[in-house]
Order: sequence, then structure tokens, then C-alpha cells
Amino acid sequence: MLGMMIAFFKDLWKFRVEVKKQGTWMQKYIKKNNYALNPDLMMTTNLKVWISEMQATFGQRFCPCFEPSDDKELNKKMMCPCEYVEDEIKEYGTCHCALFGRADLDKAGWKASSKRLMAEYQIPLNLKDGVLDTRGQVLDHRRNLPVPDAMHQLKSTLNNYKGKSLKMIVSTEQEVKNLEDIAKYRKYGFSSKVNDDSFEVNLQLKN
Ligand code: SF4
Repeated sequence: MLGMMIAFFKDLWKFRVEVKKQGTWMQKYIKKNNYALNPDLMMTTNLKVWISEMQATFGQRFCPCFEPSDDKELNKKMMCPCEYVEDEIKEYGTCHCALFGRADLDKAGWKASSKRLMAEYQIPLNLKDGVLDTRGQVLDHRRNLPVPDAMHQLKSTLNNYKGKSLKMIVSTEQEVKNLEDIAKYRKYGFSSKVNDDSFEVNLQLKN
């Protein structure tokens, strides 16, 4: 928990300029659409940091809850605020990431949506002896993308992982490309190879 708090403040400092900019467009956006921002300040700040990190890693303002896909049209739809907001607000009261929601959503409604999101991402990881097999996750029914995806499984692993290197098994070439971008951004060593039924990525986390 302490480690996560330290990481949060480090990231907040690193992205302080971008976080402020995210806040500016978000305020305009909710006003125009009669939505609200998640009243949980920690959650909203984290989402602003994660959107800033997506922008720094992949070059565009991708949704913080999904890594880029190999479908250019889908990627366009996933820029925050994404094309699914209205539909998801109708279904859950908030967007998938619980960032934007109905203006009249009460505290319990926001809490329920944040809980739904956490339940989707905090799954037991298939991690054994330094190998993280990311395959076989359920697909989000709108985007047809895994939840949690390889990127989020990596992030969850790194919260507690002490090893110097990590091997990841992924299903698609796009996931390999995304992990390469993450490695470049985070200055990790990176190599990959093609297996019979999967792709293997090796990350050198520390020297
Ligand atoms: S789900 Fe929410 S946070 Fe994610 S892109 Fe859509 S609007 Fe942005």
C-alpha cells in the first residue's frame, strides 16, 4: 500500500502539467454534456495521470483502461472521451473507467461503478516463476478487447514484483508492440519471440 502511494505521488509530480491540462478539457466536456466527474479525488487524479501516461507511451490520448488495438478505427473510437461514454453511462451510470458519469449519480452509484471496475482489473494473475501468462481473459463486449489486457496485467504484477526480469506470454502481435512501447518509455530491456501458439516477451526490469 505504501509503495502504491509513493508511486502515485511520483507519477503525479511527473505528469503535473499534463494532469492540469486533462482537468481543463474534462471540465469543459462535463459542462457541455451535463455529466459529472468521479467525486473520488484520488480515483479521478489517478485516471488523469493514467491518461497522461497513455499519451506519453503511445502518442495519443487513449482510454486508460484499454491498451491500443491493431484496429485503427477502434483506436479512434477509444480516444478519451471515447465513443462509448453515452452508452456506458446508460448501462452503469458512468463510463467504463468510472471517470465520467451522470450528473445526478449519487455517491453509492459512483462507488458501485468504481467497485465494478476494480473487480474487472483485480483478478488473480497467472504468474509463476517469473512468467506471466496474460492469455484467456474475458472480452469487453463493446470493444472486444481483453479485460484486464496484457498492459494492465503487467502493471498489477509490477506493484509487488521483486524480480529483475519478467517473461510475458501474450496472444497477439499488437500486444508485443504495445509492450515494446511500454519498455521503451520505462527504459526496460526488451526482446520478443514467436512461439507456436503465442508470443513471448522478455522484459529486463532492472540491470
Ligand atoms: S471509458 Fe471513460 S476514461 Fe475511458 S476513454 Fe471512455 S470516457 Fe475516457
